[in-house]
Amino acid sequence: MHCPFCSTDETKVIDSRLVAEGEQVRRRRQCTVCNERFTTYEMAELLMPALIKQDGTREPFNEEKLRAGLTRSLEKRPVSLDKIEAAIAHIKRKLQATGEREVKSLLVGETVMEQLRLLDEVAYVRFASVYRSFQDLDEFRAEIDKLERQPDI
Ligand SMILES: [Zn+2]
Repeated sequence: MHCPFCSTDETKVIDSRLVAEGEQVRRRRQCTVCNERFTTYEMAELLMPALIKQDGTREPFNEEKLRAGLTRSLEKRPVSLDKIEAAIAHIKRKLQATGEREVKSLLVGETVMEQLRLLDEVAYVRFASVYRSFQDLDEFRAEIDKLERQPDI
């Protein structure tokens, strides 16, 4: 980064340490031009991005909506609440890890499908059939064939 004193981009790190219980890196830097010292902090960007819908409009990420969608797909299936919560946490982490301020809602749908496939295949097909709004039976069958070919993880 640029030196805040003289704006050159020639700076060097003279000390580096973990702070905030290892969640941040604090770096002491020195400008090689004006010799001023300054400190920078680096941390993972873990903001929950907003969702860009198919029609281009934006909406904030809604955890309750995600939970409702998963619960509906998993209705009367032998999957514990703990596992559903773990899947929700995984989906959130994956979205946060993109580091983007906005992501396509499509990414959420794909991530949900990925998690459901691991949890319960019936729930996966239920969700996929609604989510992808299958045009015809052939398309639906193709999805099930694909499911059967994928190895269990
Ligand atoms: Zn400088």
